[in-house]
Amino acid sequence: MIDTKITFLGSGSWQGVPAPFGDDEISKSVEWGSKDFRFRTSLLVQTHNGKNILVEVTPDIRLQSWKYKLTRPDAVLVSHWHWDHLFGLLDLDWFAEKNSLRVYGNRVTKEWQENSMGHINVNFSVFESFKTFVIDNVEITPVPVNHVEETHGFIFKNLETGKAFAYLSDFSSIPDHTSEKLSTSDYATIDATYLASDIDDDLTHVQKDQFPKLFTSIDGPQLILTNIGSYQNLSHDDFQAMFSQQTIAYDGMEILI
Ligand SMILES: [Zn+2]
Repeated sequence: MIDTKITFLGSGSWQGVPAPFGDDEISKSVEWGSKDFRFRTSLLVQTHNGKNILVEVTPDIRLQSWKYKLTRPDAVLVSHWHWDHLFGLLDLDWFAEKNSLRVYGNRVTKEWQENSMGHINVNFSVFESFKTFVIDNVEITPVPVNHVEETHGFIFKNLETGKAFAYLSDFSSIPDHTSEKLSTSDYATIDATYLASDIDDDLTHVQKDQFPKLFTSIDGPQLILTNIGSYQNLSHDDFQAMFSQQTIAYDGMEILI
């Protein structure tokens, strides 16, 4: 087995599902372990030699590590500094004292980590756009996306099978150079925060009316919609029925590359 396994540890947007004190139907009715229960978006990338790459360290990291029986990550990749992607580090204070914790992020994320969580013992490596690095048999390419803060996605390529998976978290649009890189991936995740809801006061994520154009502009990879919130008040099955050509992510979903 030379595959790299990608597991969705979370597929929810910033509040997760259920939302705190959520009074929407999904939050009130969701059951633990169902496809409608969503931790904040993150991934585990496992190489065939057993290296663990954690993507995002969310405020749900304590329960994610318990639910998925995670062992010490060999690397942690962070797309941007927003709290739902980085601030789970606060929960890892004790863990980081006892274990080496290598975090990869962009320059702005490093500044936020140092200024707001400088007491956490991490080894922080700053990456640059399109400059690849390799962990075990996986080549990682940070690709810039447009969001309110400097934000990167990651393209994971299994150097032995040649298959690639692109993880794009929060974004409003994708620069041309990043789109070109995506075309050679087998899978790509899409920010579905506002997939089925009209929100006109937050332009930092893809808007509902932009999805059809986005779907046709990314030619090649199977698209996986993630970052899904309860405020849309649709179940996983409802979403999947509405978007039959794309895959709706759920917690625990696995992809092999
Ligand atoms: Zn964000």
